[in-house]
Amino acid sequence: MRLWRVEEAQRLVESELAADLAEVWARCRGDFHCLEKTPYDSALVGVGRWWAGPFTIGNRKLGEMPFFSLPPVTTCPGHTPFCLRWCYAIYEVANWRAHVREAASYLLSQRDDFVDVVLSYLAKIPHPVVRLHVSGDFYSRAYLEKWAEAAGRRPDKIFYTYTKSLDLIRRVETPENLVIHISADPYNYVKAVETWRELGRGLITYVYTPGEDVGPIRYILENTGAVLLLFLNHVQHAPRDDPRKIRTQLRATLGPQARRVVFDPEEFSSGPQCVQCGVCWRTAKYFKDPPYRKTWGIDMRRSTS
Ligand code: SF4
Repeated sequence: MRLWRVEEAQRLVESELAADLAEVWARCRGDFHCLEKTPYDSALVGVGRWWAGPFTIGNRKLGEMPFFSLPPVTTCPGHTPFCLRWCYAIYEVANWRAHVREAASYLLSQRDDFVDVVLSYLAKIPHPVVRLHVSGDFYSRAYLEKWAEAAGRRPDKIFYTYTKSLDLIRRVETPENLVIHISADPYNYVKAVETWRELGRGLITYVYTPGEDVGPIRYILENTGAVLLLFLNHVQHAPRDDPRKIRTQLRATLGPQARRVVFDPEEFSSGPQCVQCGVCWRTAKYFKDPPYRKTWGIDMRRSTS
């Protein structure tokens, strides 16, 4: 297992480089000229087409959408043995600048001025949807409350994420434009079901590893009314097969229960990237009063089809 990546993440959090980068982001407050004057290259400090300070704008799966990430596992209090074996942030992100930026983002998130700082960068970019935690998770109540405040202050943007920090999301009130989905796996699915039944909102997501027992998937579908978003385990050491064949087999195995399963279109059928897809961020049921439809002309009736 590639757990040096987790140890490396912790070392970077303690590094002078990460501490200085967090300080620079806070001092420059959305001023890109200020960032340019630092000794750091643009991909590290976050200037140019694909960055806005601590936000990286886009990746292969998301499309052109800003995201904010933290170090993997060490910021995930709800991590399970599944994460250590399969988390793509451990096995697939192999860019040292991204690792330093995650560490600096964690340090930034601990500051009292975190909300003002991240909003200062978001004010400089037009993107209406922001993904939290391509890597990392809500690591404390105070940190979750900071994103709740940030989303509350920018009701014109949607912030969305997936979490295994199930105890935290049960305790903190969040605005509707902070969309939090429950991330289930073979180790936490019973608790994921309990959490969804208590909150009654959001998707439940599950990363399917080809060949594994579908018992947890059945349990989730039988014990909730949730839509289950199925991802495909695609890290390098996962078993491989044709995604369309896997989808067909799963549909046959699950029978009528498969009607409540959304097979991730990007992973099972080379479909659109998240910025176009929107299953995770423009689902009508999450937004009782949909100003977003007016703002962006979004047809929310297509939510989970
Ligand atoms: S369902 Fe759509 S929005 Fe959600 S992760 Fe997959 S591609 Fe992205």
